Amino acid sequence: MPVIDSIYKQQNLTIATTVFALGKYTRFIKDFLESAEQHYFVGFRVHFYLFTDQPESVPEVKMGENRSLTVLKVQSLNRWQDISMNRMEKLEKLIENELAGEADYVFCLDVDTMFYGRWGAESLGRLVGVMHPWLFDAPRDQFTYERRPESLAYIPAGEGDYYYAGAAFGGTLEDVHNLTKTCREHLNIDAVKSIEAVWQEESHLNKYFLLNKPSKLLSPEYMWRGINEGAAPIKIVRFANVPKNYAEVRSNA
Ligand code: UDP
Ligand code: MN
Repeated sequence: MPVIDSIYKQQNLTIATTVFALGKYTRFIKDFLESAEQHYFVGFRVHFYLFTDQPESVPEVKMGENRSLTVLKVQSLNRWQDISMNRMEKLEKLIENELAGEADYVFCLDVDTMFYGRWGAESLGRLVGVMHPWLFDAPRDQFTYERRPESLAYIPAGEGDYYYAGAAFGGTLEDVHNLTKTCREHLNIDAVKSIEAVWQEESHLNKYFLLNKPSKLLSPEYMWRGINEGAAPIKIVRFANVPKNYAEVRSNA
């Protein structure tokens, strides 16, 4: 076990991890969980919370010692944008209703992904963001922030530190609760005004991180483009998207 893991391990931590698989995205669950068993917080207590509209289709995955999976049934939604955005509210309520006293940190990860290298205690922090794999080396004016002032996700030209990935974020329960509550409220207010931010909850996450700086910034090693996409700029692919046919997996692509 790496030194940093053995030091954090003395704190007897529990890492809650939420993942969502609705509609055709249930196909990604097996590789996600099996690869997590190999690479993600190995040696720690890890509790996965899998939200799905089809609990019956969740595959049997053998979990290691101190690792568990709770499947939570959720209503299916038609628009992929709604499924993606709804994660903020689901995570907000999970922290309020289930995680208090049960976990120390929580991460929210996309399911159309796999782990390829170790992801351990070096990723822990009060508030954790990941640099987006396509925009980490782009100039600020190319960041795909929401640019319409009518949206609460609005970030004016010239502002913003990084463009963060919506596919992976985390931190302590208190900080992630504040993040998810704020993003959920802002998504709702935008919806009432009939405006949907350009990248939905990712846009609101980026606004939140502008005003509430992450205490830890993870490199794109922690959310790479894909295992077959050139990884020259990074040292090791730890976690990456798996290829998907958007038109086929999304109900309304
Ligand atoms: N998602 C889902 N079913 C859908 C669409 C999205 O379960 O039909 C969830 C899933 O966890 C996925 C996340 O929402 O990883 C983000 O959506 P997606 O991966 O399609 O967005 P992208 O990473 O392509 O921007
Ligand atoms: Mn994804």
